[in-house]
Amino acid sequence: EDIIFMNNTCLEVKDLKKIYHDKYSETIALNNISFNVKDKEYISIIGPSGCGKSTILGIIAGIINKSSGDIIFNKENPTIGYMLQEDSLFPWKTILENCLLGLEITKKLNTKTKQRAIDLLTTYGLKDFINKYPSSLSGGMKQRVALIRTLVLNPDILLLDEPFSALDYQTRLTLSDEVYEIIKKEGKTAIMVTHDIAEAISMSDRIILLSKRPSHVKKIYNVSFKEKSIPTENRKKEEFTFYYQNIWKELDHHV
Ligand code: ADP
Repeated sequence: EDIIFMNNTCLEVKDLKKIYHDKYSETIALNNISFNVKDKEYISIIGPSGCGKSTILGIIAGIINKSSGDIIFNKENPTIGYMLQEDSLFPWKTILENCLLGLEITKKLNTKTKQRAIDLLTTYGLKDFINKYPSSLSGGMKQRVALIRTLVLNPDILLLDEPFSALDYQTRLTLSDEVYEIIKKEGKTAIMVTHDIAEAISMSDRIILLSKRPSHVKKIYNVSFKEKSIPTENRKKEEFTFYYQNIWKELDHHV
């Protein structure tokens, strides 16, 4: 059992600490954060604004330096997909060109990977927009392209930083179903940062609740539904209310 679990672990975050320094002060953002992520698991990180959620993703992605602690992947040189909240597509490039950019940068662009990009866009309803520009897409569609752009790289883990927060409520709901289904179908491991408790419960296998800054892991919830469905359906279930009330109580409000 233990050995299977070990092999099953995609990522381990161990005693992670982050102190931001500027000229006059220092901010302890993260104080000994530890958790693990299993293969194909969907993890959400929630916590009050400013507690360091984005910092954790940035450190995992390797774009922010940690102060101490360890990030241990189960393989060497993992590919990490990073999807941001804001529309990060280049307006002067077509949808396909946007999706090929990461491949170009990492020198992985070839006929096969290009075809994979086209296939993903086709599978997920964007075939007719392949040669269009981002301005002709709705906010939700742009975020779908942003997700596909990261999937094209075949990442070992996907990091999603508030992926829906720039969208209106209706679009958030629809897109959370779509993103959830794409990630499950492609068999991806995902860590999502959100400030939205409902979003976290409806989408995740586990939720990591952080305290206010300097943050530590306050609680980890195993989210289990008798019958797990797509996010919008999960929101209607009895267990959803149970988790919502529990997490609401534990969350450090007014910080
Ligand atoms: P969250 O994503 O939970 O809102 P962040 O990870 O963005 O939190 O930030 C955590 C804390 O670190 C905040 O207090 C923020 O002001 C601070 N912080 C973030 N980036 C920097 C930086 N580059 N320099 C100094 N302080 C920073």
